[in-house]
Amino acid sequence: MSKVRIHNRNYGPGYLASGQAISSTDSEEIFMKPSFHPRLINDNFSDPGLFIPFLFERRALLFDLGDISKLSARDLMKVSHVFVTHTHMDHFIGFDTLLRLLLGRDKEIHLFGPLGFIQKIEAKLSAYTWNLIENYENTLFINAAEIKGKKIFVQRYSSRDRFRPVGAPQELTFKGNLISEQAFSIDAVLLDHKIDCIGLTLKENFSINIIKEGLKELDLPVGQWLREFKKAIYEGRNLAQRFKVIWQDEDKVVREKYFPLGELKERIARISPGQKITYITDIIGSPENIAKAVDLALDSNRLFIEAAFLDEERDMAQRKYHLTAKEAGLIAARAKVKELTPFHFSPRYFGREKELVQEAMTAFRSGT
Ligand SMILES: [Zn+2]
Ligand SMILES: [Zn+2]
Repeated sequence: MSKVRIHNRNYGPGYLASGQAISSTDSEEIFMKPSFHPRLINDNFSDPGLFIPFLFERRALLFDLGDISKLSARDLMKVSHVFVTHTHMDHFIGFDTLLRLLLGRDKEIHLFGPLGFIQKIEAKLSAYTWNLIENYENTLFINAAEIKGKKIFVQRYSSRDRFRPVGAPQELTFKGNLISEQAFSIDAVLLDHKIDCIGLTLKENFSINIIKEGLKELDLPVGQWLREFKKAIYEGRNLAQRFKVIWQDEDKVVREKYFPLGELKERIARISPGQKITYITDIIGSPENIAKAVDLALDSNRLFIEAAFLDEERDMAQRKYHLTAKEAGLIAARAKVKELTPFHFSPRYFGREKELVQEAMTAFRSGT
């Protein structure tokens, strides 16, 4: 676990980027690690996609489903929810890879996508012959959620039933939220890419920091149990419940101590606002899109945003319904994000990656 000093309890820029220590005037030392560690799956000229593993449990989210072959089976097995911004091939071809891996396992996966998504999923599923899978020991459930204007339609499929639709789609109201859990939520907005394209934001409801001094006072070592402790808090477990702290001492003797969860929380944890991570790609730089993107990304700790073209080729960017690097940087500036990560570059700039990054960063820093 990395040791970090925090300064005035503000998360400075670079905190999420590097996970490195931030200098401090505050003498209080705490252990801090964000509970989500997003990382781009591929380089900036390959298929876009963000893999977001959870620190406190074996679980992950996936934003976009392009080429995911760089993710290990172990990582892919953690994925519970996949958010597909749109079904252009570079954002959706990974569906087969994921399905191949999950088939034959007891698993339930949730996929979200824009208008037409259910039909696209069914087209993928119907491309294969499933005459033997109903006899498999394990069952794979697939839930496909399609955002259609102000509605969400959710269709369920089961390997037991050869991935035919299970019943009629469930109809829900879409007010900007896709999932909401104890620890985090995912919000979405429909953007214009000549088709609907989903902008995504992950909001951690709170963040748990461990106070080193508190551990010292209770004579507790740092260890695996802290992950269990954080998990218990994130899950909203009853604070009156007894929590077991277990560790091996220097002589390899297993030691245990018990605390009411709430007391332990009081003594060793500080709850602070959680991080916000926003992901925006494949949108035209129209005033409407830019306003919506700024709104979605507002005050994000980190913004992943496409920077497909140089601004000198803005006409081409507009024709192809993509952002320029400058537009990406301006969105980041207006949204006051702490850290900007431009990605999804047009292959025409191969070898000129720095120019795109520089253009985005200059606009981000200057706001013009
Ligand atoms: Zn794309
Ligand atoms: Zn696209």
